Amino acid sequence: MAEKIEEVEVVEKVAPTTEEKEEKTTADKKKFYKQHKSNKKKVCIFCEDKNCKFIDYKDPRLKKFVTEKGKIIPSRQTGTCSRHQRELTVAIKRARNIALLPFSGD
Ligand SMILES: [Zn+2]
Repeated sequence: MAEKIEEVEVVEKVAPTTEEKEEKTTADKKKFYKQHKSNKKKVCIFCEDKNCKFIDYKDPRLKKFVTEKGKIIPSRQTGTCSRHQRELTVAIKRARNIALLPFSGD
């Protein structure tokens, strides 16, 4: 009988601690999320620019969308919409071809 009671106690003790842990991790996640997320909502700069009907490969802004190594930065980081991201990749590839932008690597 004594053992059974102990077991019950253990179960009761374990249950709340796991819940606490989960709460703590979600809180940490929220904290982490807040730290790394600015309140500003990213807007596609090409959508904002009403005069820009298509993305030119000579556009100096293309440099913003390429890393130091020459990689194209994903739209989730730049906030570019999917339609313009597609145009952007084409423009960057064209710019690379005429040596306005570097290919990946040094
Ligand atoms: Zn856009």
